[in-house]
Amino acid sequence: MAGLILRNIHKRFGNNTVIPNLNLEIQTGEFVTLLGPSGCGKTTLLRMIAGLEKINSGELYIGGKYMNPVPPQKRPIGMVFQSYALFPHMNVRNNIAFGLKIQKKDRADIFTKLDWVLPLLGLEKYTERLPKQLSGGQRQRVALARALVLDPDVLLLDEPLSNLDAALREKATEELKRIHMKVGKTIIYVTHNQIEAMTMSHRIAVMRNGQVEQYDKPSVLYDSPATYNAACFIGSPVTNTLTGTLKTDGKDAILHSSIGPIRVALGDSPALQKYDGVEVLASIRPQDIRLKTETNSSVANLSTEISVRVEMTETPGDRSLIIARAGKNDATTIRFFVHRSRHVSRGDLQSILIPGNRLHLYDTKTKMNIR
Ligand code: ATP
Repeated sequence: MAGLILRNIHKRFGNNTVIPNLNLEIQTGEFVTLLGPSGCGKTTLLRMIAGLEKINSGELYIGGKYMNPVPPQKRPIGMVFQSYALFPHMNVRNNIAFGLKIQKKDRADIFTKLDWVLPLLGLEKYTERLPKQLSGGQRQRVALARALVLDPDVLLLDEPLSNLDAALREKATEELKRIHMKVGKTIIYVTHNQIEAMTMSHRIAVMRNGQVEQYDKPSVLYDSPATYNAACFIGSPVTNTLTGTLKTDGKDAILHSSIGPIRVALGDSPALQKYDGVEVLASIRPQDIRLKTETNSSVANLSTEISVRVEMTETPGDRSLIIARAGKNDATTIRFFVHRSRHVSRGDLQSILIPGNRLHLYDTKTKMNIR
């Protein structure tokens, strides 16, 4: 049975519809991320699941039970807010135990829960401290502990790492994943940070304008984006985008793009044929482009050679990111990677290879993948 079902969910504030009609199923124990730009409705969706926001129409089930009429405190959920919402005058121990006391659990029960959760989250040394005496990461763990001791079926996490600096954030991401593996709760995580989403989630729901554009495993989102928006939102650095007119004779296809004609691997996609002579959008990941001199001939045969002028290079690790310009008036930016041992300098002219089987094409109006 699915841990959570959202069926035909509709939400509006006054006359402003923020979620027109949303469907989502989450399995028990799954870590699912709602990923999307600011204002796309992630927090609103989380608040409806928590019962903090009314659902205008549609149905919500948790563990098979119809939840729409159930008040927040009776729902089997725990929520961690971006602000953590810790009680400033209570120490760590009392913050964590607060919910258990409200539930009138006996002292022995509360001690057992604290003995379990404090080491789980590495908080044993901080039990007497007030929130203001903790780091951002420690506060986040207290907030998580406070939710976990109530043993909810579903944990809702609303951008819990956004107050942390980059290094702490990376560590906290790893820690959250570890905690999820230990406790096995269903987690719904909200973020606009695609790296966090890709690192932690079993599945990601890519949201835009209150709709789920694609719901799948991170690897599928990366390799086969269903929409132009999903392609642009997932992956680092951002994917290369092009526009062009498609010409196909049914066997072969060429994208006449802003950087020149590019061979498209048709595969067995008859869908492409109806786009003959039509303008389309295209994307190709920087990781899929190679320098011609770095590529063996079997790959080169399936690719199109394009000439680019290097504008900038960045070498953060074992590879250098090359930001280059191509096409008429050098108007199009193309990003790709080379091994750091290659000496590529600003102003160099280089030949790159664009593999036709890694080029994604989208309808300009619907922004849906057309393969
Ligand atoms: P962010 O990443 O910035 O937190 P989000 O994806 O979580 O954004 P929501 O906070 O869910 O987005 O907001 C979705 C839309 O609903 C926005 O346009 C917002 O202005 C609107 N909205 C949210 N809460 C209310 C409210 N209480 N009254 C009116 N409009 C609201």
